[in-house]
Amino acid sequence: EQEVAEYRKSLAIRVSGFDVPRPVKTFEDCGFAPELMRAIAKQGYEKPTTIQCQALPIVLSGRDVIGIAKTGSGKTASFVLPMIVHIMDQPELQKEEGPIGLICAPTRELAHQIFLEAKKFAKAYGIRASAVYGGMSKLDQFKELKAGCEIVVATPGRLIDMLKMKALTMTRATYLVLDEADRMFDLGFEPQIRSIVGQIRPDRQTLLFSATMPRKVEKLAREILSDPVRVTVGEVG
Ligand code: ADP
Ligand code: MG
Repeated sequence: EQEVAEYRKSLAIRVSGFDVPRPVKTFEDCGFAPELMRAIAKQGYEKPTTIQCQALPIVLSGRDVIGIAKTGSGKTASFVLPMIVHIMDQPELQKEEGPIGLICAPTRELAHQIFLEAKKFAKAYGIRASAVYGGMSKLDQFKELKAGCEIVVATPGRLIDMLKMKALTMTRATYLVLDEADRMFDLGFEPQIRSIVGQIRPDRQTLLFSATMPRKVEKLAREILSDPVRVTVGEVG
């Protein structure tokens, strides 16, 4: 334990929560299947970034996570890679409808970036991803969602529109990510986020990533995450 604590300190990783898994040093340590390892290599990712070293084993263990690290630190793969594992672990994969993994992001640009990253890893397994954000035709988006997918990356406003139109059902959603939570709050999306979270089953895994942790975001995290592990990298939060 002492050794793990020293190792975390050397990487400027701080954790809080009970029974926190130790950081990994390599992607091999995560136990990813060969297809996923190949997709990671194809991305040119040789080893996990600092936030990935600590967040990956925690998220893979099924725990809720609050991840705080600055922009550019590799937060996306910290939730996208375990999401692929989570989806492939679903015994009822073929039976029901609606996304299993749902990612909310503040802007269409960010949602699109996450969508592209998710697609790169999902492709190896035939997992389908859809992007849902403003500026695209609602009808086209409706049709795409109706055709079915396992991953939805969305901005909160457009996702609410799609839910109202019954373009998708949330009964199968068990992996929820709120990315750039601080920016979503800055943009006034708190009511939409609360509405979306309220439509997702409580036995989900919930992950919240942010570059900073203002009090309002902290309060939301306390309300919607269960026994979260908090991971902070560097001088943020
Ligand atoms: P954040 O969400 O923390 O701002 P991103 O997830 O967008 O960061 O990642 C920033 C950049 O780092 C992206 O270009 C991404 O492809 C790259 N990246 C992520 N993980 C790794 C890795 N393990 N090795 C090399 N590059 C990586
Ligand atoms: Mg990001």
